[in-house]
Amino acid sequence: MISTTFSQHLDFIKSLYKDKSFIALHEPSFWGNEREYLVDCIDSTFVSSIGEYVDKFERSISQFTGATYSIAIVNGTSALHLALEIAGVKSDDEVITQALTFVGTCNAISYCGASPVFIDISPKTLGMSADSLEKYLAENTIIQDGECINKNTGSRIAAVMPMHTFGHPVEIDRILAISESYGIVVIEDAAEALGSFYKGKHVGTYGKVGILSFNGNKIITTGGGGMIITNDSEIAEKAKHLSTTAKIDHQFLFNHDAIGYNYRLPNINAALGCAQMENLDVYLDQHRQMSEIYKDYFKDTNIDYIDQPIDSESNHWLNAILLNNEKDRDAFLKEANKSNIMLRPPWTLMHNLEMYKHCSHDSLENAINLSKRILNIPSSCRETEV
Ligand SMILES: *Cc1c(COP(=O)(O)O)cnc(C)c1O
Repeated sequence: MISTTFSQHLDFIKSLYKDKSFIALHEPSFWGNEREYLVDCIDSTFVSSIGEYVDKFERSISQFTGATYSIAIVNGTSALHLALEIAGVKSDDEVITQALTFVGTCNAISYCGASPVFIDISPKTLGMSADSLEKYLAENTIIQDGECINKNTGSRIAAVMPMHTFGHPVEIDRILAISESYGIVVIEDAAEALGSFYKGKHVGTYGKVGILSFNGNKIITTGGGGMIITNDSEIAEKAKHLSTTAKIDHQFLFNHDAIGYNYRLPNINAALGCAQMENLDVYLDQHRQMSEIYKDYFKDTNIDYIDQPIDSESNHWLNAILLNNEKDRDAFLKEANKSNIMLRPPWTLMHNLEMYKHCSHDSLENAINLSKRILNIPSSCRETEV
């Protein structure tokens, strides 16, 4: 019985992507000037860390998101690492994030010598729950010399880092207000959320600093790439400086005034990014359409479609559905794989990973319940060209 229903769902997904023998979860689309810009970049010989495409790509991200400053970085994880370091996260600090996220979020915290603390998600946004954050801070911390200290560990809580899951905005205004009342900075992992707005403002621009990712599976891609976005000139300056080996500007001398990183996005990747940005509105349109199609379809089934939360306009990067229980979820997964349709369960919760098992967390009730029942479904653009 159940398996017939699942195969009907799979037939429906197949009908959306007619010409494909294998339906991926999310494929990139190259419809515009990608080839032209790449060739131009190669012809110019400026394929590496300096070039016009990097500046142009940064300007287009600033223009689209409304962030005053955008600094192009080699990938999203490195962007997170640098953002955390510049925001003042140090060795032995703690950073509050959510249990349901991509491991890169937590790894970036670890690169700073800090530890993640895992907070539950909201069933409405699948991102950090503002209520859980408020409760955790109230029950577990004290303010000492103006710093927020975790009573259980004695460590300073240096930052709160919510992640906008699958492109759906978290309740960022509440998270910001709660964090600020404890004197904690907010860094937004908006890796998945280019094109997502909360109360009319682009996500990633609420906190002190935010990051985007342009990995191959994201809504636009530069092959690999990321961006730090901020309205703070000092943070922007530091990000540019530290991402370029902290080299002091000089015509010919190589002098460096800090331990910097080689984190700058190469011009050849930025060339791809410039072309992708020219079609971002088309991609967003297609993702919105896909969301409507799925929402409409699953309405008449016993599977819930997870829609964008209130007060927000999601980029609908990766569509997600909610099954009744883990058994159904896994049965559906199995059947899909047999049919060459890629469905995917969400990431293993971070507190279950070997390297993060020792980290503090709250009850994680929603994260544990929902992560067993969520499935991501194919979300690539359906058109093959524009
Ligand atoms: C993609 C992603 C990143 C960073 O990805 P990179 O592959 O390093 O660009 C970070 N956090 C989340 C939640 C992501 O989905």
